[in-house]
Amino acid sequence: MLKSKESVCYKERLRSHHDALAPLHALVRPAANFADRLYNMSLDERPRTIYLHVPFCTHNCTFCNLNRRRTQPPDDYADLLLQEIETYSTYPYISEGRYDAVYFGGGTPTTLSAKALQKVLSALRSHLNLTPNVEVTIETTISDLTEDKITVFQEEGVNRFSLGVQTFSSKGRYLLGRWGNGEKAMKKITYLLEKGFQDVSIDLIYNWPGQSEEDLLEDLRIIESLNLAGLSLYALILPKETVLYRMIGTGQCPAMGDIGQEKRFFDLILERLLDRGFILHELTKLVKPNRDEYKYVRIRYDNGDTLALGAGAGGRLGNVVYHNPSNMDDYRQQVKSPIGLPTKGLLVNNIYDFIYHVVGRLEFGRLDWNDLKPFPKLQDYLQPLVDTLTANGLIELDSQGLFLTRDGVFWGNNIAREFATTIIEFFRRKGGDAIKHSDIPQKNVPMSHHPATG
Ligand code: SF4
Repeated sequence: MLKSKESVCYKERLRSHHDALAPLHALVRPAANFADRLYNMSLDERPRTIYLHVPFCTHNCTFCNLNRRRTQPPDDYADLLLQEIETYSTYPYISEGRYDAVYFGGGTPTTLSAKALQKVLSALRSHLNLTPNVEVTIETTISDLTEDKITVFQEEGVNRFSLGVQTFSSKGRYLLGRWGNGEKAMKKITYLLEKGFQDVSIDLIYNWPGQSEEDLLEDLRIIESLNLAGLSLYALILPKETVLYRMIGTGQCPAMGDIGQEKRFFDLILERLLDRGFILHELTKLVKPNRDEYKYVRIRYDNGDTLALGAGAGGRLGNVVYHNPSNMDDYRQQVKSPIGLPTKGLLVNNIYDFIYHVVGRLEFGRLDWNDLKPFPKLQDYLQPLVDTLTANGLIELDSQGLFLTRDGVFWGNNIAREFATTIIEFFRRKGGDAIKHSDIPQKNVPMSHHPATG
């Protein structure tokens, strides 16, 4: 919870949208017979995405605790993805739906060979109904994005890149365990733009050990010079099991800056880049208008479907959330089983959808009173929270609702989580059955513009 009025911060900053969504775990219940449910799903108008997971990396970054397999993907990985695509496409709900976004994430999807990537991209187009303006994103690193893969991406309609640059600083790249120097990163970005890929975005990590303000300003100067379509900014999170955490503990590198420095650096990034053509897209994402729509994330927050493929991939179809096994042998066994799909998932209800949507709105920087309309008493119930956040300068009100201030964007995941918790409490107080309430429109409502920052 927020501290007293004098304090403008929470005890601990939540840095991930997963933290904001965590209270929703209480609202799911097990769903057996995944394949039967899928077979019986009737097509509706919800937006849809496809997520392909490639949990392999050619090396391990020192700050990463994702336990990625530091190898090339197994030889049969692309074939397993193909088999999954074929299996899913035998279900009318999957084959007849239209997909507006495809996202290759990981790990590093470009650890797959050019030939494997071509096979998967072409199978997606031949088995599934991709819309003419489908957004196809590839997460990649500078070193794994080779010429033959760029050619495949051109031929197969990839139109969005998310490059894990993290920093252009040699000192920073060395500490974070990134391969290739900043100059190589700049050249690769320029090359992609010259090749006609307009939607090129990078990840930027700030507040890494020993990073000075000058180091950050140099990263920002380079970003301004590169004509990027967008960037995702992440304050370094350093779990205990990471190599970098141990390096700090043994004095091999300087300590990380404290939360005060993290906030100063965050402010510096926003001050610099919001003045230079970028707008806030979501809490950790700045984009140039009309250059980077990032449809994939919008669809997910609008309770759209995500057809998840690959080991460890998580998605949602209809009202069932599901995960593929992370373990490669278990995943292979699932794909090659007679049904070829997960056996179970988790059932979500309309309250879950409603709260997910509210959290999504806040992740995009604002919440309209209209969003709360399905429950007329909810706005009153949220009023004390709204008052506290306003008094602490984290939100401001306008005629249509509320929006996050610059400080509010910094603490955005904390704020979104408080809304989620308070709304769950509202339904619990209404009685046990209210939490299963189903009278909420599930239609997709377009996101509105963020007045404070864009
Ligand atoms: S490339 Fe990404 S997933 Fe792979 S080790 Fe580095 S941070 Fe982790």
